[in-house]
Amino acid sequence: MPGLIVRSGMKINNQRFEERHFMVGTLVNAAKEVKSTTEKQSPTLTDGFHLVVDALKLNGVDTIYGVAGIPITDLARLAQAEGIRYIGFRHEESAAYAATITGYLTKRPGICLTVSAPGFLNGLVGTANATTNGFPMIQISGSSDREIIDLQQGDYEELDQMNAAKAYTKAAYRVNKPEDIGIGVARSIRAAVSGRPGGVYLDFTAEVLGAALDAEAGAKSLVRVVDPAPAEIPAPESIQRALELLAGAQRPLIILGKGAAYAQADAEIRWFIEKTGIPFLPMSMAKGLLPDNHSQSAAAARSLVLGQADVVMLIGARLNWLLAHGKPPRWSPNVRFVQVDILATEMDSNRPIAAPVVADIKSAMTSFLSMLKPGQIRPQAAWTKAIEERKKHNIERMAVRLNSNPSPMNFSSALRAVRDVLASRPDIYVVNEGANTLDFGRDIIEMREPRKRLDCGTWGVMGVGMGYAIGATVTTGKPVVAIEGDSAFGFCGMELETICRYSLPVVIVIFNNGGVYRGDDVNRSGGSDPAPTVLMKARYDKLIEAYDGRGYNVIDPQALTKALTESLASGKPAIINCVIDPTDGTESGHISNLNPKSQINAAHK
Ligand code: ADP
Ligand code: MG
Repeated sequence: MPGLIVRSGMKINNQRFEERHFMVGTLVNAAKEVKSTTEKQSPTLTDGFHLVVDALKLNGVDTIYGVAGIPITDLARLAQAEGIRYIGFRHEESAAYAATITGYLTKRPGICLTVSAPGFLNGLVGTANATTNGFPMIQISGSSDREIIDLQQGDYEELDQMNAAKAYTKAAYRVNKPEDIGIGVARSIRAAVSGRPGGVYLDFTAEVLGAALDAEAGAKSLVRVVDPAPAEIPAPESIQRALELLAGAQRPLIILGKGAAYAQADAEIRWFIEKTGIPFLPMSMAKGLLPDNHSQSAAAARSLVLGQADVVMLIGARLNWLLAHGKPPRWSPNVRFVQVDILATEMDSNRPIAAPVVADIKSAMTSFLSMLKPGQIRPQAAWTKAIEERKKHNIERMAVRLNSNPSPMNFSSALRAVRDVLASRPDIYVVNEGANTLDFGRDIIEMREPRKRLDCGTWGVMGVGMGYAIGATVTTGKPVVAIEGDSAFGFCGMELETICRYSLPVVIVIFNNGGVYRGDDVNRSGGSDPAPTVLMKARYDKLIEAYDGRGYNVIDPQALTKALTESLASGKPAIINCVIDPTDGTESGHISNLNPKSQINAAHK
């Protein structure tokens, strides 16, 4: 009877609580036992756990981020035993963010592993964030007994996970038979990375994970995905139309979005920009695709170029809220658009697109370069001159704030110190989140290399910081500096232990102004509770001491420079608690226009 030689602990459906008492290594030995015992018998067996790991390895997965527990603990153990790096988190949301950033940096889906129901839902926030940003990742979750779930009979961690996931993912699949594991993994990989990438949900029931299967049949059921993200070649007429529109422009502009960064068409994009001489504006995560100090960068003249450009070429950027939907008053009412995007339905989503180019960006830019005639596109000198002048004016104005030395530090003076240290380290990944910390950080920290700036992205979500930092360093082996608002850090701060446990080279700089936006709000009732936006002016540097990491408390730019230089040189985890003036910063940062204000109640007494 084949079932007899499968270890009882794997029959999680019947004996799921037994799993809690497993010792590390039990599974590995047991797994070997299964194989060796079965070698003498016929047929040789495998099981769902092994097939999942085999399917992931077959498709090049080398890292899993997750939180262990019922029913996937053995999956994590087995993956580790089989040579996949397993990074265990303290909260599933951060694990999902780490998988997301792995997807962004590698163009291969990052993998996040979660337990059923609550763990699944925690991770789903991160998976939804991946979908919104168009980054490929797969959340794999174990789930409880389907018969009990479907009749709502009250199972341990009962939830119809696949259907819950559908609304927030690019695709959601559930595997109900062990022989379908290979297909489930293959479909998930293809869904995550083809077309516009996104978050995918893959559900394995506890029963499937524990189920035994003939090893040969199991091996045959696995699928190695061939060409998971095929090139999407543009129609030549679409390139022609776009080039003609750009050639007729007087004030052309190129906007680079994070889709352009994701596409890894760095050289093609740069050649096109330099050959045409068109000024460019990088969206936040596209900074560094061309260096920020490139002469054609219009970043320091953003309002001017958005307001006056007559033809705008969007490359992997959406006309969503981050670009004021392409509408007046930020934009000229007569602006016409070229849009290069892999998703046809992105066209005309906010403004009519005169020249849509539906293709992957690498193929599109290659076509643009081959069809561009010498001298065909030249922006008017008056346009580039106007941009130059505005840049100069704005940079001089910013320098005044940047070079001042207030005590306590403000956002600008502290970020100047960080900027100067990072200037000699373009290899470092910069994670940035918060409100003012994000807005000032985006403008002040210069990027010189592609895909080195990782931030809140399309959703403006807080709490991505530690997950992104861990994902970036685990994926690339490079150090990370995470520039965090004190509030933003609070959403994911426990991952400090994860960073220290794996001894990752992550330096967390906390911009501590003691609050959300600012730290000086008052309770309008006159009561003793703190105001809704107020946080403690805590000594965050002391937290890391609990995990044998290095903490610094700094109150001036010199001390910040020293602490950052020293901690980067050490290559070890560190926290720099950066004391910022609680009265510096604006409510909602640069997006206060999105924050409705009560006109009539007591809030403004
Ligand atoms: P940003 O916020 O930086 O402006 P968005 O996330 O709004 O960027 O837009 C990215 C766009 O890039 C999405 O519309 C997505 O479909 C597109 N995209 C992502 N990868 C590719 C690719 N390889 N080729 C073409 N378009 C892509
Ligand atoms: Mg703050």
